[in-house]
Amino acid sequence: MSSSPPVTAQPVTDPDVLVIGGGIAGLFCAYFLRLAGHGVTVLERSAIGDPAGCSYGNTGFVGIGSAPLAGPNLLRNGVRSLLRPDDRLALAPSLDRDRLRWLWQLRRAGSADELRRGVDIMIELKLRSLAILPEVDVAVPAEPVFQTSGMVQAYRTAAGFERACRALPRAVANGVPLRVLERDELRELEPDAEFDIAGALYNESCGLLRAPDFSLALARTLTAMGVEIIGGSTVDGFEVSGRSVVAVRTSTGDLHPREVVLAAGSWSAELAGRLGLYLELQPIKGYSVTVRAPANGPRGPVLLVEGMVALRPLGDRLRFGGDMTLAGLDRSVSRRRIARMRHTVRQHLPALEPTETLEVWAGLRPCTPDSLPLLGRAPGYDNLTIAAGHGHNGMGLAPVSGQLIAELVSGRPTAMDISPFRLERFSNAPRWPRPGGTRPAAEPATASTAAASTAGGPS
Ligand SMILES: Cc1cc2nc3c(=O)[nH]c(=O)nc-3n(C[C@H](O)[C@H](O)[C@H](O)COP(=O)(O)OP(=O)(O)OC[C@H]3O[C@@H](n4cnc5c(N)ncnc54)[C@H](O)[C@@H]3O)c2cc1C
Repeated sequence: MSSSPPVTAQPVTDPDVLVIGGGIAGLFCAYFLRLAGHGVTVLERSAIGDPAGCSYGNTGFVGIGSAPLAGPNLLRNGVRSLLRPDDRLALAPSLDRDRLRWLWQLRRAGSADELRRGVDIMIELKLRSLAILPEVDVAVPAEPVFQTSGMVQAYRTAAGFERACRALPRAVANGVPLRVLERDELRELEPDAEFDIAGALYNESCGLLRAPDFSLALARTLTAMGVEIIGGSTVDGFEVSGRSVVAVRTSTGDLHPREVVLAAGSWSAELAGRLGLYLELQPIKGYSVTVRAPANGPRGPVLLVEGMVALRPLGDRLRFGGDMTLAGLDRSVSRRRIARMRHTVRQHLPALEPTETLEVWAGLRPCTPDSLPLLGRAPGYDNLTIAAGHGHNGMGLAPVSGQLIAELVSGRPTAMDISPFRLERFSNAPRWPRPGGTRPAAEPATASTAAASTAGGPS
């Protein structure tokens, strides 16, 4: 079911709390803020569930156990990808200072200690989200928009499978319910699909959100709760006085909220720049391809680990998603990258019956170098909170992020330590001079500089 939730063109009165961005992160912030008793307005430049947002066409896995982006080999592969464009990570050649700085931070986040710390924090976040999701009232009778499910992790090479088996005890000790899946168990779970793989693991704790239907259902729930959703309105500037955002300039008029939550996904960095804030955020493009379900396709979710492609059955459709291209705010589709994903699927499931392609989609994951979100009060501001940087895991992280943001805005103690998500944690990066001179994170913009940077366009 994907009918659009009701949207307003312009609020009747100035909002109490204004959430900028109607993706999954913004919607969950609105949900918990409303539960905490605030008056909430969500401002979205297009519509909830619009394909331009990253929450639209993803595979919706909510399980624990995903590895941080900065894991071993990614950067090496990225640099190699400059020479071999068919590699796992495509890195467009660029001297963009922000992108170089982000890559420098990615390298730092790849140390063994940082990775271990990141994995532990990610597991805690995902467990909290998995506990929240069943409580959210988004029931749609015909098709569940959230369900729990196990997940097959398939390895094509013997070396890859052996590596995964060696890492298994540590993952289990970390709370990831992983086990080796024997061949006959795999056949029982997936009787239609013929895998050409060296081995598989089974993760018992996966949850699945159906995108974009979950967002649409959540938006309807929000409307019923009294949250106002404004569609077709783009934030294009701010007015700042002292430590407060006093006005949010939009394409449909100015708003004067008491509190502002910035949850605009990959576009958050640009908007934060207009407030003199630097967010360590880069869009990483991924693709999904949705086809008519083949008769011999998988029945449940499958992760093709070495190829980094996720397979997600959606009733009479099958979606596969993955790929990574670091190339800025560009949603164009590369036929070569799509062919690479299809090839990965064929390698693992050579007999898969070809069926009609229904949709090819590109989405921009809002990624931080350490794969942890950016959550917290913006430095130098008393009424601005950031909820961005959900990267590869936004569907799985948004529920807990929304809860933490609502606690912060309400001035209540947070359910968990939020210091790992501080915006300032990357402030030790080299500061390449930026055209237009965006100022350091700790200084808020004055009214005049905020207006000036708005006039000059994005930094
Ligand atoms: C191929 C692929 C597969 C994925 N699979 C998974 C998965 O299995 N599990 C998982 O957990 N995650 C997955 N992800 C990641 C997940 O989709 C993202 O982390 C998540 O959608 C980010 O949500 P968001 O709300 O932060 O951003 P978005 O969904 O992009 O929302 C931001 C919103 O802000 C709006 N906006 C921007 N600028 C403005 C403005 N100036 N004024 C008003 N509104 C504005 C945009 O229109 C947009 O709707 C996948 C991503 C991709 C690309």
